[in-house]
Amino acid sequence: PIYMDYSATTPIDPRVADQMIPYLREQFGNPASRSHMYGWTAEKAVEEARGHVAALVNADPREIIWTSGATESNNLALKGAANFYKTKGKHIITVKTEHKSVLDTVRELERQGFDATYLEPQDNGLITIEQLTAAIRPDTIVVSVMLVNNEIGVIQPIAEIGELCRSKGIIFHCDAAQATGKVAIDLQKTKVDLMTFTAHKTYGPKGVGALYVCRKPRVRIEAQMHGGGHERGLRSGTLPTHQIVGMGEAFRLAKVEMDSEIGRIKALRDRLAKGLQEIEETYINGDMEHRVPHNLNVSFNYVEGESLIMAVKDLAVSSGSACTSASLEPSYVLRALGRSDELAHSSIRFTIGRFTTEKDIDFAVDLMKSKVGKLRELSPLWEM
Ligand code: PLP
Repeated sequence: PIYMDYSATTPIDPRVADQMIPYLREQFGNPASRSHMYGWTAEKAVEEARGHVAALVNADPREIIWTSGATESNNLALKGAANFYKTKGKHIITVKTEHKSVLDTVRELERQGFDATYLEPQDNGLITIEQLTAAIRPDTIVVSVMLVNNEIGVIQPIAEIGELCRSKGIIFHCDAAQATGKVAIDLQKTKVDLMTFTAHKTYGPKGVGALYVCRKPRVRIEAQMHGGGHERGLRSGTLPTHQIVGMGEAFRLAKVEMDSEIGRIKALRDRLAKGLQEIEETYINGDMEHRVPHNLNVSFNYVEGESLIMAVKDLAVSSGSACTSASLEPSYVLRALGRSDELAHSSIRFTIGRFTTEKDIDFAVDLMKSKVGKLRELSPLWEM
């Protein structure tokens, strides 16, 4: 099948895999072994990779903490900050369209006695600074808003959110799992306290990520994983050198290639959007201006999402009704935008990237045209 599910995970870039192999074979040392060459070699590789991750977002390498991925980074950021700052207040603000690894973590904090507000986005998927301002209370300690949404690709106004939070002394956490290599991030300019990264959405391996923890001003979090005191005590556990090397190379390539890649992907996305819009009764979900070009989320009215996914097996895409694991609930993200259950159910998320070709796009458009047409002929609701 043609792969158009880059937001679920990207294929690993072969150049990344090549860099990882030596650390799975002869360079197997523990980066924490201080007494011999094996350890020194591994440590050097880990620190080089940390430099690459920091460079992509214009941070200091000392601000990067390795984790097992974005889920862990989100847990560490939210639980870590909430618990460190709980004597200042117990209120957390986030958004209904955040990833489950943020929403479920905030729910858990609520069970532990914190209080949470879940902002409702506008129908374009974005929140406004006015909404956030209105939700802030004297006891608000943490705000968590993602940079790029995984389902609809919209870009939240994090520069303004950062300014607002910094002016009020509130910790601002941002999940940037879907953003690296897609939008420029400059943490010297943008006032973010904690930022989540993962390798496998940016052509790196699965199972490795990072958390940015701002040093100026100094942001504090409580460790969630205790042990050998790795990562300055913030996240214990032997570092997976090969995974980290992979993430470093993936982020290095992202920095070098982002500008040229985005132009190419935007042209592909426009071709896809144009083709799909030739099908009647199709609706694009999420703002088209504040959006990464890698994502096109489309509802096909009068067809049922699950049948559609079955009908387009030759295309690897996600459906708005199957996104959250096994549940057949319509996408909570599309519902939060005010889409009806029917339109949420009949949505398909096309996500494209580095290895997508024009031929792939044309294949997808032709397939959708024919399958949507066939399914509608069978639908009692379709009378056109
Ligand atoms: N946050 C967002 C926005 C995501 O899209 C994902 C990926 O599904 C995650 C967090 C979780 O990332 P990971 O698979 O690295 O734990």
